[in-house]
Amino acid sequence: MTKVAIIGAGPCGLSMLRAFELAEKNGEKIPEIVCFEKQEDWGGLWNYNWRTGSDQYGDPVHNSMYRYLWSNGPKECLEFADYSFDEHFGKAIPSFPPRAVLYDYIIGRVSKGKLKSKIKFNTRVVNTIYKNDKFEVSYQDKVNDKVLKDNFDFVVVSTGHFSVPYIPEYEGMNSFPGRIMHSHDFRDAEEFRNKNVIVLGSSYSAEDVALQCNKYGAKSVTIGYRHNPMGFKWPKGMKEVHYLDRLEGKKAIFKDGTEQEADVVILCTGYLHHFPFLEENLQLKN
Ligand SMILES: Cc1cc2nc3c(=O)[nH]c(=O)nc-3n(C[C@H](O)[C@H](O)[C@H](O)COP(=O)(O)OP(=O)(O)OC[C@H]3O[C@@H](n4cnc5c(N)ncnc54)[C@H](O)[C@@H]3O)c2cc1C
Repeated sequence: MTKVAIIGAGPCGLSMLRAFELAEKNGEKIPEIVCFEKQEDWGGLWNYNWRTGSDQYGDPVHNSMYRYLWSNGPKECLEFADYSFDEHFGKAIPSFPPRAVLYDYIIGRVSKGKLKSKIKFNTRVVNTIYKNDKFEVSYQDKVNDKVLKDNFDFVVVSTGHFSVPYIPEYEGMNSFPGRIMHSHDFRDAEEFRNKNVIVLGSSYSAEDVALQCNKYGAKSVTIGYRHNPMGFKWPKGMKEVHYLDRLEGKKAIFKDGTEQEADVVILCTGYLHHFPFLEENLQLKN
């Protein structure tokens, strides 16, 4: 029988599982499917977790979302074609729901069937090689720390690409007396109350993280853009300046000459395509 491996049970992996389930309901013969998920539950990035760094098994934490994240696009633009928001909630809801509401919707779509039984949780794919017309997938059972192997005819990679941070370096970072972090590890703006925050970047994370810090009482928020400013009319206490040149002690010095005292630098500098579990010739390179 044909065998299919799906790596990752986030919204994309779950959509694959659901498509097979619907095909089977329509009387089609479907292959044997195994979905590997390194977290202990499904939902991908929407499966919020307080952890940063490593999980309890030493595996890098996948989550990049924060506690008070709200959808940054109208829900009408991210609705699944086969499961509407109205169907899930039984009534109309606002266009920009909070994270937990979107999670409920994503999970509601898949929890009625028997999809969970096809997912191996706490199981991380560590290597995939193609030989003799098959994909040999090696996976680690994280709980028992055992690496096992299985062969598949097809492999679907649905591991996302907002999880491995791109971390640039600027002069003065090594001696900066404050905190330097990537938005991947940002969970809550509360800890930056009364702090001078520098946010580097000019995309969605920079915009949202900077505004949350302002809203939760940061003393100042200075956004350093690299190419083009976001150019919004920022609230009081926020400004956008051109590109960090260097840190000198507690001072952030920007290319346009702005100098700003800094307690924390948050790098909203994006993510890397990272597929260490695929042999090199199967990888999508940046
Ligand atoms: C801060 C932030 C805010 C966002 N806000 C929005 C928003 O408002 N609206 C929106 O539509 N999108 C938003 N997104 C985009 C988000 O990536 C998608 O909504 C969605 O989660 C992508 O689904 P996915 O299944 O491709 O990947 P993911 O959700 O990343 O899921 C991938 C899954 O693969 C698993 N995995 C990874 N590696 C392995 C491995 N080796 N072995 C086994 N399992 C593995 C992970 O544990 C994870 O469960 C946001 C992203 C971020 C980072």
